Amino acid sequence: MTTSASTPIDWRARAAAARFDGRALIGGKRVAAQTGETFDRVSPIDGRVFAQAARGRAADIDAAVASARAAFADGRWAGKAPAARKRILMKFSELIQKHKDELALTETLDMGKPIQYSLSVDVGSTARTIAWYAEAIDKVYDEIAPTPASALALITREPMGVIGCIVPWNYPMIMAAWKLGPALATGNSVVLKPSEKSPLTALRLAELALEAGVPEGVFNVVPGFGHEAGEALALHMDVDAIGFTGSTRVGRRMMEYASRSNLKRVYNELGGKSAFLVFPDFDDLDRCAQTLAGSIFFNQGESCNAPSRLFVHESIADDFAKKLAAEAPKYQPGDPLDARTVMGALVDDTQLKTVLGYIGAGHEEGAKAIAGGRQARSESGGYYVEPTIFDGVRNDMKIAREEIFGPVLSIIRFKDEAEAIRMANDSSYGLQASVWSSHIDRAHRVARALQAGTVHVNQYDEDDITVPFGGVKQSGNGRDKSLHALEKYTELKTTWIRINA
Ligand code: NAD
Repeated sequence: MTTSASTPIDWRARAAAARFDGRALIGGKRVAAQTGETFDRVSPIDGRVFAQAARGRAADIDAAVASARAAFADGRWAGKAPAARKRILMKFSELIQKHKDELALTETLDMGKPIQYSLSVDVGSTARTIAWYAEAIDKVYDEIAPTPASALALITREPMGVIGCIVPWNYPMIMAAWKLGPALATGNSVVLKPSEKSPLTALRLAELALEAGVPEGVFNVVPGFGHEAGEALALHMDVDAIGFTGSTRVGRRMMEYASRSNLKRVYNELGGKSAFLVFPDFDDLDRCAQTLAGSIFFNQGESCNAPSRLFVHESIADDFAKKLAAEAPKYQPGDPLDARTVMGALVDDTQLKTVLGYIGAGHEEGAKAIAGGRQARSESGGYYVEPTIFDGVRNDMKIAREEIFGPVLSIIRFKDEAEAIRMANDSSYGLQASVWSSHIDRAHRVARALQAGTVHVNQYDEDDITVPFGGVKQSGNGRDKSLHALEKYTELKTTWIRINA
């Protein structure tokens, strides 16, 4: 399938005609779950079942890990020169681009995001991520230590072996690519467990990798539920590391699983409740309001780094709240298969109930909805919520403390810089933060004081594969993206060589 520049694609017709293979991919072959069980894939667009996926359990994970281990042990991938892995992964990236329409449609049907963003953001970023790590891998060097002349000490990075990747549903392909890129480029084998809410694109990615020349067994995908396939993978004695992205609740379990099994490395990329601080000296509050609305409502608010807590100085708060309320209607949810839609469906009925529950809690605790606050498009059978803004929020309210993972913004007022910093840091999370000030000293001072893995100054939307992404506190301990991610999937080894005089 290709996009024609002149004829717009009829996505609904394509969706009606599309068929999906939800079987696992193990050892280079599509296989049913060993029990033969499947689970329904319900599209959040209309609440209808549109596909089935294999319900992988421990036996399927065992088979996938055995296949990954055998592939690693015989060196069919790890033993290739970095430049050879580069060529294959570049081809993999090209195939992702070639199949962009099909992958985008699958992603939108599976998890409800607007088709325009599945195409431009999710597919594009996935292909770029794989290409970036492919291009990098024959340009990184190891080290020789400055030891005395009587010996040589080589410090090398070696692939770890079998990497288990467990990913969420909000950016299914991108989250997988952030792990696949560095894990595969460094020569590891992978077993990927996608979310049960969005398993289909991961399976197609594995097929495209095979087509590109990634050897059988190097990249396996087992769909299934977290407490079944996910738990079996994280507890497996022959998995060397887990690259996990998901909630803080499940991230905690990943560490438990490691301690109960083989002390495998655990890299956790977890939830967030990111703070957005607006000072009265910032000179373009219109742009600031537009950026905030665009960031909190993007992907239906289902982004780990969504700036869900606004801290605004009391002297400008009323005016700024009005600007935000005027932005919100631009993000009214629409049919995700309509190419003009900017906000789509929440991932499922459970998420819809969770988000509506938080909106109810906001009202009960005395905050005031100045935009949205209701379910939308219920006649579609899908799961939609209006872009919602609460004013009059206190930092101790439930909607300010817990990750909602929906299109809901909380406005909290502050009196001075110290109070703004104190409240922004008063959170169990520390993924991202943003400070808006035209005063260079203040911008630096506040950016330094904010406890977050990434701080944005006078913007929120910059993002690039070249920079690390990850959090502090209960937002996690790992960093995806950038060359630093190569460190996660390799072990440092020292080799001492004696040199006789
Ligand atoms: P989740 O934690 O419920 O699930 C994530 C993955 O873990 C899924 O594949 C799931 O099947 C699996 N899982 C669930 N229970 C498990 C268990 N007991 N054992 C093993 N695996 C298990 O998260 P979600 O709802 O899919 O995703 C949303 C969360 O992800 C949010 O908290 C969001 O902030 C976070 N997230 C973080 C980042 C980041 O980079 N920090 C990026 C995207 C999403």
